Amino acid sequence: MKIVIPAERRANETRVAATPDTVKKFKALGFDVAIEKGAGDKSRYPDQTYADAGAEIIADAKDLYAAGDIVLKVQRPLIAGEGSVDELALMKKGAVLAAILNPYQSKDAVAAYAAQGVTAFAMEFMPRITRAQSMDVLSSQSNLAGYLAVIEAAYEFDRAFPMMMTAAGTIAPARVMVMGAGVAGLQAIATARRLGAIVSATDVRLAAKEQVESLGAKFVVVDHDELKTAETSGGYAKEMSDDFKQKQAAFIAETLKKQDIAICTALIPGRRAPTLITADMVRSMKPGSLIVDLAAEQGGNCELTRPGEVYEVDGVKIIGHANFPSRLATDASALYAKNLLNFLTAFTDKDSKELKLNWDDEIIKGTALTRDGQIIHPALAQGA
Ligand code: NAD
Repeated sequence: MKIVIPAERRANETRVAATPDTVKKFKALGFDVAIEKGAGDKSRYPDQTYADAGAEIIADAKDLYAAGDIVLKVQRPLIAGEGSVDELALMKKGAVLAAILNPYQSKDAVAAYAAQGVTAFAMEFMPRITRAQSMDVLSSQSNLAGYLAVIEAAYEFDRAFPMMMTAAGTIAPARVMVMGAGVAGLQAIATARRLGAIVSATDVRLAAKEQVESLGAKFVVVDHDELKTAETSGGYAKEMSDDFKQKQAAFIAETLKKQDIAICTALIPGRRAPTLITADMVRSMKPGSLIVDLAAEQGGNCELTRPGEVYEVDGVKIIGHANFPSRLATDASALYAKNLLNFLTAFTDKDSKELKLNWDDEIIKGTALTRDGQIIHPALAQGA
């Protein structure tokens, strides 16, 4: 069976779905591997390093896709009308596709995978179970994004992070508030603490309290009964009631005035990100404060975030870069590629050296969107 790795063609995407290291491991498992010429350039993996690892380098996307039994990508393939190449149309009927497919926001694309006869796996649907931790792309990428959010904040901030007692006077430490203490938020807390900031964090899942405190930050939250039921069985947050939102808004408005930096990471799977910082709250922040919004592409936690932009409103800078993990493309690709390797390894038959998908397995059931021309994921099938 042949695994192919096309170049990524979507805007702001600099990652690649395989590294020379994972190519070597796929070869050892018994797969043939081909990669599109230049696919690793933006993440600093030159063609020669893939060739040395045993991959065939193919210049023409058409030839590459035509050879692929398994297609590994970072982002979903371009479909008709989305760019100069219709990548999906180049895929073989029956091919397996594994990528971050953004299914809730791309329902037409999911229907197109089915129509093309592709078996598509959305890596971001990986169940949050112990066995799948090494395949969890949301965790591997959010962790890097959380780190980078703080580094970008430190770069844009006109002051220092740590307290400094010098002969010329004392510099006060920066005050950082992290909104959403999941994978990205916890890494943001750890990074801001390492830089010497005073850090607080909020979340609707009370389970986050202990984790926040173990990193030396203060957990702050609005007092509300609904917090007891805010966590879903999958470990995610649910959408909160209007009453909760109102009380949380008043609480955040008061807390934000005393902060220098807000790092926003709050997400609700399949929905628009919750609005936590309104325009009025931005205007109440001290001049020179800043907001980093990791949720920019999901609608933003801050009402004034402009996805893909860094700009200033009344002295407050709002950082809404698109695709934070891509800004650390070498590491983000290495971890993402490992997630894919672990996923395929778990379903590769050691004797026949073929992919043997177990359709009763929780991991396959959780991530598979389409099979045999049908949309099979329960959250996306018609009427869901
Ligand atoms: P996420 O990216 O979906 O959301 C980020 C954070 O935002 C979450 O902590 C969420 O509770 C919070 N949030 C949502 N709405 C909010 C609101 N209105 N106000 C404040 N905060 C809000 O979540 P994630 O980072 O992917 O992780 C979610 C959970 O899953 C975490 O507990 C994490 O530790 C856990 N997890 C488990 C595994 C595993 O394998 N067992 C793997 C990864 C993550």
